Amino acid sequence: MELGGLHHMTAVTTEAAENVRFYTGTLGMRLVKKTVNQDDTSAYHLFYGDELGRAGTEVTFFDWPQLRVAPNHPGAGEVSTTELRVTGDDALGYWAARLSEAGVSHGGIEDRDGRSSISFTDPEGQRLRLADDSSAVVEGGRQWEKGDVPAEFGIRGLGAFDLTVRDAAPTAWVLTEVLGFRKSGEYEEDGARVHTFEVGPGGPGAVVRLIERPDAPQAHLGRGGVHHVAFRAPDDEQHEAWRKRIRAAGIGVTPQIDRYYFRSIYFREPGGVLFEIATDGPGFATDEDAAHLGERLSLPPFLEDRREEIEARLEPITVS
Ligand code: ZN
Repeated sequence: MELGGLHHMTAVTTEAAENVRFYTGTLGMRLVKKTVNQDDTSAYHLFYGDELGRAGTEVTFFDWPQLRVAPNHPGAGEVSTTELRVTGDDALGYWAARLSEAGVSHGGIEDRDGRSSISFTDPEGQRLRLADDSSAVVEGGRQWEKGDVPAEFGIRGLGAFDLTVRDAAPTAWVLTEVLGFRKSGEYEEDGARVHTFEVGPGGPGAVVRLIERPDAPQAHLGRGGVHHVAFRAPDDEQHEAWRKRIRAAGIGVTPQIDRYYFRSIYFREPGGVLFEIATDGPGFATDEDAAHLGERLSLPPFLEDRREEIEARLEPITVS
């Protein structure tokens, strides 16, 4: 049994319309689902991805306007950067120019762990990095043909999750002994010790970089921060087996929760980051035609009879 790599990341926005504009307009991703947070139906849950929102390509946001005045406090116990895959040096050249033209400040093209990358933030300070995935084994997604970015330069999904922790050992133990990752490298970067891990096929799409900062303050989730990250399980059978394995390791884990587009289990790793394992399917085309994903508010069947009430409490997203 092996995890198939990275599934999705879920972060916090406080400005849904601006968020849609940035991820679809500037980054050229497709809004594949506009739904609500199942645990708080007054909040949008926005999903961006490739043409179908394939597992491994999803970047998702809870819209929590009440956190507008509460920016994320970076530190230990959080996902400190999400890496997005693009292919080849030409793509990075394209993105450096595109981000500059869009007024997005970025760090230019730099070499990180042997690959070209560009670090930048979204308008709310969400830390992102575009990185070359030329060596990838995990299949990347395909950009939506109606996206704003030429297909050959499009974002193909998640490349890596960077986690910052005070002490690498407990998190490394969960990654290797519980989740089946293998250590792939260790180096100094920006004054911190970085330990890299790969799972399944390895390479872009299956990497966790563990950044050890013993003096970092405790991170505090807010606007522009990451709520949790998810890894891929192919089916329900393996999903259940993972749940048993996590429990057997003495880690509290939720029962399987049906998120309708996939099924989920959640647990907190000892470094403080909330992890999820999600099934690859059934996917985003289960309740909408693939040509019209994300155009209307989607609700899972158990919320459908409350549609009127739920819609009345949501501010419509108008993207100009
Ligand atoms: Zn999730």
